[in-house]
Amino acid sequence: MSPFRSHMETALAEARAAAERGEVPVGAVVVSPRGDVVAAAGNRTIELRDPTAHAEILAIRAACQVLGSERLAGCDLYVTLEPCPMCASAISQARIARLYYGTADPKSGGVSQGPRVFEHPQCHHVPEIYDGINAAEAERLLKTFFAARRP
Ligand SMILES: [Zn+2]
Repeated sequence: MSPFRSHMETALAEARAAAERGEVPVGAVVVSPRGDVVAAAGNRTIELRDPTAHAEILAIRAACQVLGSERLAGCDLYVTLEPCPMCASAISQARIARLYYGTADPKSGGVSQGPRVFEHPQCHHVPEIYDGINAAEAERLLKTFFAARRP
């Protein structure tokens, strides 16, 4: 068992890159059971004109292509913001083993609030969940982004 190494810094770098593209700054990283980064992505909903192009969805899609499987059993997902219900469901469908996320999302989160997707009896796979990882920096990026957009 290799020692735990957080990949949240990589996810935060993706979030910063998303902000520079004018996208809501959220970043996600999929890590293999061996601890290698398989895929990393930031939000691209505006660029791709795709409301499902959240960082988690893009990272999961890319990781599935790299690993040649529709499931990511044993893989971990790092994301800077609490996943929304859509992404939480995708994380379950992908059989992600461990979910590490940064700051909570009272407005759109679906893990520790709102629909609480993983607590639902119809949720067939529940990852281990670790929240509050580098939360202050993830929150700062979001606040700075939205403050700059206010008139
Ligand atoms: Zn989402």
